[in-house]
Amino acid sequence: MERTRNSMPDNKNSLDKLPNAMTTGPASRDFMKGEETGTGNEMYGLMTELYPICRSITGNGVRETLRIMKEHIPLEVHEVPTGTKVFDWFVPKEWNIRDAFVKNSEGEKIIDFRKNNLHVLNYSIPVRKKVSLSELKEHLFTLPERPDWIPYRTSYYSENWGFCMSHAQYLQLREDEYEVLIDSTLEPGSLTYGEYRVQGETDKEILISAHICHPSLCNDNLSGVAIAVFLAKALSRMSLKYSYRFLFVPGTIGSITWLSLNEREVSKFEHGLVAACLGDFGRFTYKKSRRGSAEIDRAVINVLKNSGEAYEVTDFMPFGYDERQYCSPGFNLPVGCLMRTPHGRYPEYHTSADNLDLVRPEYLEGSLAKYLEVLSVLENNSRYLNQNPKCEPQLGRRGLYQATGGQKEGKSREIAMLWVLNLSDGSNTLLDISDRSGIRFSAIKEAADLLKQHGLLRECGE
Ligand code: ZN
Repeated sequence: MERTRNSMPDNKNSLDKLPNAMTTGPASRDFMKGEETGTGNEMYGLMTELYPICRSITGNGVRETLRIMKEHIPLEVHEVPTGTKVFDWFVPKEWNIRDAFVKNSEGEKIIDFRKNNLHVLNYSIPVRKKVSLSELKEHLFTLPERPDWIPYRTSYYSENWGFCMSHAQYLQLREDEYEVLIDSTLEPGSLTYGEYRVQGETDKEILISAHICHPSLCNDNLSGVAIAVFLAKALSRMSLKYSYRFLFVPGTIGSITWLSLNEREVSKFEHGLVAACLGDFGRFTYKKSRRGSAEIDRAVINVLKNSGEAYEVTDFMPFGYDERQYCSPGFNLPVGCLMRTPHGRYPEYHTSADNLDLVRPEYLEGSLAKYLEVLSVLENNSRYLNQNPKCEPQLGRRGLYQATGGQKEGKSREIAMLWVLNLSDGSNTLLDISDRSGIRFSAIKEAADLLKQHGLLRECGE
């Protein structure tokens, strides 16, 4: 699979086309009718730019990443000082790294951080010394079952140093005196995160969260970052019912920090999704919120069910990404995680093979479309009241009934209208009607709009 930066078409402004369908106004939040946008290539381009940066849970790699993201969305960057108590945790010392290598006695660099930042155990303390092969081996990490790949390893909360390398190269190491250098700093500083809010008609919010702490790894989680950035970009041009809050935080400690410092904001969250692992070819996998049947869970499952594609739904479990924090019992927020192949379930996970070849623009584009479709359900999921509830209204008189039978499209539109009329007694939402009828949400919404235009339906609360 060969791909180069040069093959990326130059279509920087193509996303502008996406929200055009919104000109019908806020009554119909139909942002699913985007044309082919080339947005997949733009997301891939952003990932390509971010890929070489050595990120961690703190430090300049995160700052540089947020700076590049700011070229797309005007996010706010926050710095939280080392030592700040955040629930049961403390913001750690800040880690930065300039260089690292292992040289043999001939002065040859056998491991070079500048070639791949996964070579360094992330959060390694500084070291400069000469070591024997056996001492060096105590600090080496490899993947014997995948001998050509470099593993990704971290040591955030216990001070250590180390290098990661391919097992094939490890097997070739010979007795020698090695020079080891890790030119890093681990000092008081701060934890950096990014936040971006899109204001809708109401202050009720939908949370989209992505972790930004992984170095040169693509599916986990530059794909989630790219999806969230382009989702934010698209939403910021739309007429919306909900407000949206995008968090770009280092995994675990970042969401804990945000929740600790913003506890009062949490009550605004009506729905939320953690965006991760969205650029590979795998089918969609949805991990439910801890609540299990929150509206977000139902909306995602409804969209996946009607997609005609294979998909998987898993129950909540207290491991994974930042949904662990959002769904901790003290918050229990309705936050799920919509992925393609989940963490740990693809062989390239947390290795150098999770690179720009594993992800593709078309899969990113499909993931963004899925997110937009889910949000479209949430945005449009209202209750309606049938204005003619005693027996069916005469649709034919209003031009809503196909006089001659057999036209498939007209027939399915009629069936959608009959479902909407029958279930619109004020207690069912359009999502309820879609679930019960097995008809796509967008078709149910179209039927509701049509009936409303003809005075047969009124939106509750209007
Ligand atoms: Zn990860």
